[in-house]
Amino acid sequence: VESERKWQRVLLKVSGEALAGDHTENIDPKVTMSIAREVASVTRLGIEVAIVVGGGNIFRGASRAGCSGLDRSSADYIGMLATVMNAIFLQATMESLGVPTRVQTAFRMSEVAEPYIRRRAVRHLEKGRVVIFAAGTGNPFFTTDTAAALRCAEINAEVVLKATNVDGVYDADPKQNPNARLLDTLSYYEVTSKDLSVMDMTAITLCQENNIPVVVFNLQKEGNIAKAIMGEKVGTLISN
Ligand code: UDP
Repeated sequence: VESERKWQRVLLKVSGEALAGDHTENIDPKVTMSIAREVASVTRLGIEVAIVVGGGNIFRGASRAGCSGLDRSSADYIGMLATVMNAIFLQATMESLGVPTRVQTAFRMSEVAEPYIRRRAVRHLEKGRVVIFAAGTGNPFFTTDTAAALRCAEINAEVVLKATNVDGVYDADPKQNPNARLLDTLSYYEVTSKDLSVMDMTAITLCQENNIPVVVFNLQKEGNIAKAIMGEKVGTLISN
């Protein structure tokens, strides 16, 4: 195994869907355990890992807005609260493996988690703790992908590692086109101009403006998270 270590500080984005695994339940404990194991293995090597968790396994604001009087902003706040549930579960699993982990929320829930304080988050990372950022950006109309790009820029992490249920970015929809090819690399421009559904425009342009590479990879394949964090070739790399 090549173990070329490229990154010193990474931002791992775990979508809510990924946490659900194959289960109909919201969170599959086997998934949180496999994420925690792989993250634990790299933090032991001194790589600093911050995590942004999604909430789509529990609630997506955009798809619920308009239901029975629920306006978009309220729906989005429910979505952000969903990410906090995922974060607490993942934190518990990480700590069960002996990895000190802090959750920081974008809006205050001090009984449950620390508020987001940038310098404190960085300090945690320097001390070898994993930091999980929850509640997205704290603003409705945004996504946790945008939160991942934003926090990555704020804490000077080098890369956004987007863990999903697919192998990476294809040149066509693999569900519709059997000849769809998995792309090794891709430019930001290609993502935005071809409207490839990698992450939303706000997130991808934030990465582009700040020169943050994005790696899209499949977390269902064992070892992939650790590989991505170690800078080994997995999935699709998006950069300039
Ligand atoms: N959300 C939001 N602002 C943010 C991040 C998330 O309003 O900065 C809400 C939004 O309703 C979203 C939900 O939280 O649908 C869950 O996040 P997301 O859909 O990004 O999770 P994922 O797709 O990664 O599971």
